[in-house]
Amino acid sequence: MNTSHLLDSYAHMIADRWGIDPGKPECRATSGKIPMGGSIFPKVGATHLMIGDAAGSVNPFNGEGIDYAYETARIAAGVLHDALTSGDASALQQYPALLDAEYGQYFKVARLFARVIGRPALMRELSRVGIHSRTLMEWVLRIMANLLRPDEKGPAEIAYAMAARIVRLAPNA
Ligand SMILES: Cc1cc2nc3c(=O)[nH]c(=O)nc-3n(C[C@H](O)[C@H](O)[C@H](O)COP(=O)(O)OP(=O)(O)OC[C@H]3O[C@@H](n4cnc5c(N)ncnc54)[C@H](O)[C@@H]3O)c2cc1C
Repeated sequence: MNTSHLLDSYAHMIADRWGIDPGKPECRATSGKIPMGGSIFPKVGATHLMIGDAAGSVNPFNGEGIDYAYETARIAAGVLHDALTSGDASALQQYPALLDAEYGQYFKVARLFARVIGRPALMRELSRVGIHSRTLMEWVLRIMANLLRPDEKGPAEIAYAMAARIVRLAPNA
C-alpha cells in the first residue's frame, strides 16, 4: 500500500471540513519505518539501555507500542536500580535476557503472523472466513493484542500455543 497516496486521498476527503487546500501542503509528507518485534540490537551497552521504540518494542501484530514502552522502561528501571544499589554496572547486562523472557516468544509468533498475512491471497482468504465469525474475531483479537490468559486454555490460547510450537521447531520461521 502506498501510504503517500493514502494520505493524499485523506487530505482530499477532509479538505472542506478542515478548510485546507490539499494541493498546497505546509511541507512535504515524510515517513519512516518503526522497528517492531524487538528487532533492534544491541539493547544494552556498558552504560545505556534501550527501551520502547528505540528497542523495537512494538507489537508486529498491530503496531502497538505504548504499553511496551512503559513495560520495557519498568524492566530497565529494575536493572538500573540493581546496578546503582550494588555499584556493579554489569547488572545492566541482565536486561536482554529479561526482555527475551517477557516478549521473545510472543514477538516470534507475531513475526510469523506478519509474514503470513503479508501474502495477499492468504490475507484475503483469512479475512473472508474470519470476518463473518464474531467468536473467531474475538480469539484473533486476544492473540493480536497480547491479551492471552495463561491460566485459561481457550481456543485462542491453544491456537497461540500451536503457533509458538511452530516457531520453536522452525527458529527461522
Ligand atoms: C501514528 C501513530 C499511531 C500510533 N498508534 C498507537 C496506538 O494506537 N497504540 C499503541 O500502543 N501505539 C501506537 N503507536 C506507537 C506508539 O506511539 C509508540 O510505540 C510509543 O509512543 C513509543 O514510546 P517511546 O517512549 O519508546 O517513544 P516516543 O513516544 O517516540 O518518545 C520518544 C521521545 O524522545 C524524544 N526525543 C527524540 N530524540 C531526542 C533527543 N535527541 N533528545 C531529547 N529527546 C528526544 C521525542 O521527541 C519523544 O518525545 C503509534 C505510533 C504512531 C506513529
